[in-house]
Amino acid sequence: FAADDAVIARGPAVLAREAFSAMGLDFPLTRKGELTVRTPVDGSQIGTMTPETAASTKAAIENAVSAFQQWRAVPAPIRGELIRRFGNLCREHKEALSCLVTLDCGKTLDEARGEVQEVIDICDFAVGLSRQLHGLSIATERPNHRMAETWHPLGVFAQISAFNFPVAVWSWGTMIALTCGNAAIWKPSEKSLLSASACAGLLARACADFPQAPKHLHQILVGGGDVGAQLAADPRVALISATGSTKMGRSVSSTVAARLGRSILELGGNNAAIITPSANRDLVLRGVTFSAAGTSGQRCTSMRRLIVHESVHDELVAQLKRAFGQLRVGNPLEPGVHAGPLIDLPAMDMFNAALDQARAEGGVVHGGQRLLAEEYPDAAYLAPALVEMPSQTPIVHTETFGPILYVMRYRDIEEAIAMNNAVPQGLSSAIFTDNMREAELFTSSLGSDCGIANVNIGTSGAEIGGAFGGEKETGGGRASGSDTWKAYMRRATNTINYSTDLPLAQGVRFDA
Ligand code: NAD
Repeated sequence: FAADDAVIARGPAVLAREAFSAMGLDFPLTRKGELTVRTPVDGSQIGTMTPETAASTKAAIENAVSAFQQWRAVPAPIRGELIRRFGNLCREHKEALSCLVTLDCGKTLDEARGEVQEVIDICDFAVGLSRQLHGLSIATERPNHRMAETWHPLGVFAQISAFNFPVAVWSWGTMIALTCGNAAIWKPSEKSLLSASACAGLLARACADFPQAPKHLHQILVGGGDVGAQLAADPRVALISATGSTKMGRSVSSTVAARLGRSILELGGNNAAIITPSANRDLVLRGVTFSAAGTSGQRCTSMRRLIVHESVHDELVAQLKRAFGQLRVGNPLEPGVHAGPLIDLPAMDMFNAALDQARAEGGVVHGGQRLLAEEYPDAAYLAPALVEMPSQTPIVHTETFGPILYVMRYRDIEEAIAMNNAVPQGLSSAIFTDNMREAELFTSSLGSDCGIANVNIGTSGAEIGGAFGGEKETGGGRASGSDTWKAYMRRATNTINYSTDLPLAQGVRFDA
């Protein structure tokens, strides 16, 4: 399967069918479902799907509970073998999966390939992890005793994912959760069901060929926020990982907290870069343009704020205006395109409303006009917008999911760091500097308050090895990488007495 020009010319609906058939999977879309599946590439309808009911969601949770009871008994390195097989299927079908990612969310094919590569990389990570789920041995105060910490699977894991990373975010959580011995349920975004269905189909194939994998080890539930809310409310869901807007996170978090459950929240970002006088200008131009305009500003880590030293502000704004103007916005299936469309027309309305508010708050907008409206009247292609702001006004404090970069001035580094930290979100941040003191200050406890703090690279494009997530309204969760596997397991402290005495801790005496 290759998404060559001839295939592209046949249109999204044919391309979607061909991708499924190349993977040997049944096409999951029908004509009679209540949920319409569209592609942002041209706004056309690809088909429909039938959403879950409350009863079918409940049954899926019950099935997951029984799958968990079997899967937890399978040794972790054997569980890892299942993940290895799934990773290999993704390698084999990388091109077809990437094509579906592009059709789902409108990111360029090159970025879609990067996203599928992330799924493959997480599988490799999880396979290694399957032999590294280690606890501690702890010194005990009692003679002839041993104290240890052991880690056990939690139960049913549910993943709610957003449209903008339709498969990577799922793999961050689910590959780790399955390796840790949990059964998994996936509620993908209702806006990106093609690549989700394909990934679930490939994982189902890997499970079917793996005798130790119980039935219903992984289930996909099609539907909207109501299905996600039901998962959040059910006490049999031991851990729920929710990626999406802060509004959704508030709802999931309060529901899960009310039943004292566990959640991992990966919510909105409002990511800034500080540009200091010593910054390498070439790095700045490349790093800022990719982070702000790549994926049409629809990454949680997209750069939305630029805090520029007053001595370099005007020159940099002129250079960025030129760089933004040279970007090729167009059909994301075509080679050489830098950015595709927004997810849908309502997202374009929000983009325009944000620019109107920025103007009303004293901003000067460059770019931001609609593109390709005649060719694609039902799709939202936009020129990225650079907006000079007098200060961080209310609109600058909000996340607008589109290519808007607000530019502000600063005088000294402490002021710049305070501006970086002044917004409610705390996902990603960056500083561009050749000054060691500024770089170290920014990454110190007095610096950026975000989960990601970079030096001389943009805010987006994280690697899977590091823990990913953010603070404040971003939710505080870490989904994958580093030692985040601990969030997917429960910890037990075991004290084992191998003597014939019964000494009590803290020297307490209880002589009967
Ligand atoms: P969204 O909040 O509209 O939807 C995300 C998911 O939540 C969907 O599957 C949706 O059906 C579900 N959902 C909606 N309401 C729900 C409810 N009340 N209970 C349970 N589930 C519910 O977000 P979106 O538009 O798909 O994605 C964009 C947002 O996601 C942005 O804010 C972006 O920053 C964020 N995001 C964050 C990360 C991260 O790692 N921090 C990664 C990707 C996207």
